[in-house]
Amino acid sequence: MVVSKGRSVEDILQLYEEGQRDFGENRVQELLRKREQLPGDIRWHMIGTLQTNKVKYLIGWIDLIHSVDRLHLFEELEKRSARANAITRVLIQIYIAQEPTKHGMSWAETEEFFRQRMWERFPHVQICGLMGMATYTSNTEQVRKEFTRLASFLRHIQERYVPHWEHFKELSMGMSNDWQIAVEAGATIVRIGSLFFE
Ligand SMILES: *Cc1c(COP(=O)(O)O)cnc(C)c1O
Repeated sequence: MVVSKGRSVEDILQLYEEGQRDFGENRVQELLRKREQLPGDIRWHMIGTLQTNKVKYLIGWIDLIHSVDRLHLFEELEKRSARANAITRVLIQIYIAQEPTKHGMSWAETEEFFRQRMWERFPHVQICGLMGMATYTSNTEQVRKEFTRLASFLRHIQERYVPHWEHFKELSMGMSNDWQIAVEAGATIVRIGSLFFE
């Protein structure tokens, strides 16, 4: 997937013409503006921190929200999706890094979410997998460890709690600087920005 945050509509259009159809943004405002100016068959992904009061603008058309990082956001997504009679596809963002600037649900919180079947309260939110951002470091072994742990966690959650969920399979991990490691560890979606535009 192409991360097009901060890039112009012209730059995006060029990649579109080369065949790219999946684009990700981290700000709702920018996402709405670009969507309006670009072809309708683009699949848009929300990858940044999502404020609860912005959820309503995404419902009914967003392809995948990668950054669901708190229970309160699930509640808002459920409320708005139910009201629009829509199913919203999301990933749970897990805090996998050793870095305070990154965020997400913790391993323990996520385990509890599934153990207590909290997802039953959110029938209009389809959880399609997990997202994680590794620590920004040149230590590739640490990055590999973080991605591998996320991949095993996905398998663990699925086997133990939701074996009947065929849609629970996406692993969104890897960016320009670490995507190869992410793919080796089992990523199904890599989020690439700078590499496409440099
Ligand atoms: C910006 C961003 C990316 C892409 O980063 P690059 O280093 O430009 O590839 C990926 N994921 C998220 C969540 C981002 O905010």
